[in-house]
Amino acid sequence: MSQTYLVVAEVRGGSLRQVTLEALQAVSQIKNQDDLVAVALIGSQITPLASELAGYTQGSVYVIDRPELETYHPELYLDALQIVMDKVNPEVILLGHTAIGRDLAPAVASRLHGGQISDVISIAKEDGKAIYTRPLYAGKAFETKQFLEGPQVITIRPNNISAAATVPTPGDIVELEFTPKADLRSIIKDVIRKTSGKVDLTEAKFVVSGGRGVKSADGFKPLEELAEVLQGAVGASRGACDAGYCDYALQIGQTGKVVTPEIYIACGISGAIQHLAGMSQSRVIIAINKDPEAPIFKVADYGIVGDLFDVVPLLTQEFKKV
Ligand code: FAD
Repeated sequence: MSQTYLVVAEVRGGSLRQVTLEALQAVSQIKNQDDLVAVALIGSQITPLASELAGYTQGSVYVIDRPELETYHPELYLDALQIVMDKVNPEVILLGHTAIGRDLAPAVASRLHGGQISDVISIAKEDGKAIYTRPLYAGKAFETKQFLEGPQVITIRPNNISAAATVPTPGDIVELEFTPKADLRSIIKDVIRKTSGKVDLTEAKFVVSGGRGVKSADGFKPLEELAEVLQGAVGASRGACDAGYCDYALQIGQTGKVVTPEIYIACGISGAIQHLAGMSQSRVIIAINKDPEAPIFKVADYGIVGDLFDVVPLLTQEFKKV
């Protein structure tokens, strides 16, 4: 029996988020030939992105474009998504494991009386059934999970599954009407945006992260220069955030963001378990620390024992030559 997969697209700063293409790729790994794929594109002034998105799927892209959806609002987005779900009747719904996806996914699962598997980093297929792998205990262990029955909601951790490639025959675009309800239980009064720079921290291929070892806000400057050369993003330990060297928007770890870049460069970070929870799944970890006994070296693929203020500018110089 065929089933329908629905990918909930995410837009940030006027562009499609990479994790949307990763979710589409995840679908192509598990779907059977006669299964259907649909994409929900919800937001304000997002219609121009529909044709770009349609280039990555042979399924239909359902667009709900309303000024009220400019900022993510849990009730409004859920209601808008319900309109798409009524249209396509999906068995499997995929979202990014992002701030929005983490908020919306349980609401969708609850509304559909379905189950949810969060923070999926890889998907396999066994005996025709999808098996989802997710990290546990701050990345120290992994579990594989499977749905037995009912609607399935999955969130995909950014940067773990390769992005979908463009398809020869783009999918069609369907614009849907949506009238936001007036009796909302909450309203958004203000949005204060804080970012680590041009590249989104959770989707960056390179992250240069600073800890208490950077010693001041100015101490982050060499790290910012290195990140700029690598076209990456700057992150931080909670130690650096607590010390007031940088904003909490940069914090990586158990109570911060989870990143899985291709290269993570930890500068002046000791490697506390709570920090490792946010970065230990990075493909390559480079640690720079003047203490050869620092625990970060236990998880690092490459370790440099030295003063970050000497090492980081040297790395920047070398990467500029590439
Ligand atoms: P430190 O542990 O002080 O390490 C600084 C390092 O810099 C040292 O290893 C030192 O050798 C090195 N150094 C100093 N100067 C230089 C130099 N010039 N060159 C090179 N190296 C130098 N932490 C997080 O990061 N993220 C979280 O999400 C998080 N959540 C937490 C949740 C809870 C419930 C708790 C209790 C803690 C949490 N923490 C978190 C805090 C965590 O336990 C550590 O305290 C914190 O990660 C330490 O930050 P740090 O490595 O920058 O500082």
